[in-house]
Amino acid sequence: MAIQRPIGTEDLLPDDARFKEHFIHTAYRVFGRYGYAPIETPLFEQTDLFVRGIGTATDVVSKEMFTVVSGGNLTKLVAGEDLPAKSRLSLRPEGTAGVVRAIAQNGLIVPGGAPVKLMYAGPMFRAERPQKGRLREFNQVGVECLGAEDPTVDAEGIIMVMRFFEEMGIPRESMRLLINSMGDENCRPAYRDAVKKYIFAHAEDMCDECLHRAEVNPLRAFDCKKEGCKRVMAGAPLIPDWLCDDCKAHYEQVKALLDAAGIAYVEDPTLVRGLDYYTRTVFEVQVDNGMGSQNAIGGGGRYDKLMEEIGGKPAPGFGFALGLERCKLAIEAAGAQTSVPATLDVYVAAVEDDLRPEAFRFLQQLRDAGLSAEMDHQSRSLKSQLKQANKQGARLAAILGPDELAAGKLHVRDMASHDERDLDLAAVRAYLDACAAGATGTVEGLLG
Ligand code: AMP
Repeated sequence: MAIQRPIGTEDLLPDDARFKEHFIHTAYRVFGRYGYAPIETPLFEQTDLFVRGIGTATDVVSKEMFTVVSGGNLTKLVAGEDLPAKSRLSLRPEGTAGVVRAIAQNGLIVPGGAPVKLMYAGPMFRAERPQKGRLREFNQVGVECLGAEDPTVDAEGIIMVMRFFEEMGIPRESMRLLINSMGDENCRPAYRDAVKKYIFAHAEDMCDECLHRAEVNPLRAFDCKKEGCKRVMAGAPLIPDWLCDDCKAHYEQVKALLDAAGIAYVEDPTLVRGLDYYTRTVFEVQVDNGMGSQNAIGGGGRYDKLMEEIGGKPAPGFGFALGLERCKLAIEAAGAQTSVPATLDVYVAAVEDDLRPEAFRFLQQLRDAGLSAEMDHQSRSLKSQLKQANKQGARLAAILGPDELAAGKLHVRDMASHDERDLDLAAVRAYLDACAAGATGTVEGLLG
């Protein structure tokens, strides 16, 4: 059998690839309105960045990272040698750590300056068990805002996410926005301890994994799907009762700003999210229709300690990531359009083979003028050239025939209405020349 693609990966055929382009373009257009500028960081980073940033106790770091090893280093590893930290590399499992590293490394935070607002798009890699909406290579768009701790950053980030999903065709009423505050270094440690104690007090009803989690990352026990653990965790201490005054005030302000913007949300005191770096605000957007068990289409929150964790100068941060593949499932379930039709303005057909060089010259002129254009490259008859024009969705067929050319005319057929007319070739050429020199050509302009 021919070699297959690795499990958990996808080929994006033209329709999917066009959707991806549309998804990213829409995200950048919406996020750009809120002051975010694009950034690109490497697909692989030093493993230590993720270990320090995301945390060893998370599933993402402890079991899901893909290691990157060069041929030379693989030989060393096989020989039992250790690699220096800078040669221990991993494919990025998420975008935040890399962007925050880039901000620190490039000194983008200027003392006294405005917050740094960056957006990114691209593939992420996690060795998860593949299922519907869960891949090993998947695409995210996201933003990071560093250098500001006001609740307005959190609120505008959440508002922006909801606007984006709506622009992508997911109706507001089919989304559920969950929010919570995870506290900070002042109040969270005591809360973690309380949850840990609570889990150990109910050890006989909890699964082994949760008992292990209780040691390293007790809050993750809220995400366990096992019935026994769910029953116990339903009575666990909840973070709102443990928040310090500052965290409480911050959370109240985020909620007030969302209320004022008319954004509906559900407070979920058990929402803890998978990554270790969150402080204060966390949020997640869920959709039920068409999703299977992976129903979170995006989420994020505040991470005021991450910059320090990775060795940068302290700076508060806020960010989120949205998953393209799950968003596509949600759009399809909402009955909205995910296919972005290919457009072809003009199909150039030649009545006889002798006219192909002339058709080819005209084709280039159309393209230089900014129109999308195609011709036959397989020596087809006129009839099958016109069939191709139809199949390829051309708006116009421009037919070059000896009689028309001799008369300085071009025969044009509107493929939808079947209207036909002869255009003056000199006028068409003058129009295309003018377009090539500046203005972008349109089919309407071509028709004169
Ligand atoms: P996270 O980085 O885990 O907060 O995830 C943010 C978003 O990325 C999720 O809400 C999903 O939409 C998407 N996502 C995360 N992991 C995967 C995956 N393995 N496959 C597809 N999408 C994912």
